[in-house]
Amino acid sequence: MPYDTDNVFARILRGEIPCRAVYEDEFALAFHDLHPQAPVHVLVIPKGPYTSLEDFSRAAPPELQAGFLRAVGETARRLGLVESGYRVLANHGRDGGQEVPHLHIHIFGGRPLGRMVQPT
Ligand code: AMP
Repeated sequence: MPYDTDNVFARILRGEIPCRAVYEDEFALAFHDLHPQAPVHVLVIPKGPYTSLEDFSRAAPPELQAGFLRAVGETARRLGLVESGYRVLANHGRDGGQEVPHLHIHIFGGRPLGRMVQPT
């Protein structure tokens, strides 16, 4: 699937849509989710045109892959989640239920998060 340059996270990266940023560096931007599903729910996105972990892990330059992962850890530290704990999650494609076609890592925290995958 070609990258959609008008997806909502691409527009946030271009500054066309506001976000509540919590961390930013040359590789990534982290901001609060619009519809939080936990007391802390933050999204971390890479600064590059990648639809999901599938193309990012295959095609992104190693420096960006490493910088993005570092930014996820740094964001969790800045959110004060290290001691209490947190969960990271990335959806891909149909079964993953991905809605926004720009790679994003969810960071959840602020309460015990229960089982990893909800039973259907
Ligand atoms: P996913 O289902 O993994 O694609 O998750 C997409 C997430 O993006 C959802 O948790 C939405 O609440 C969130 N979201 C959508 N639009 C925005 C926005 N403009 N700012 C912040 N979060 C958003």
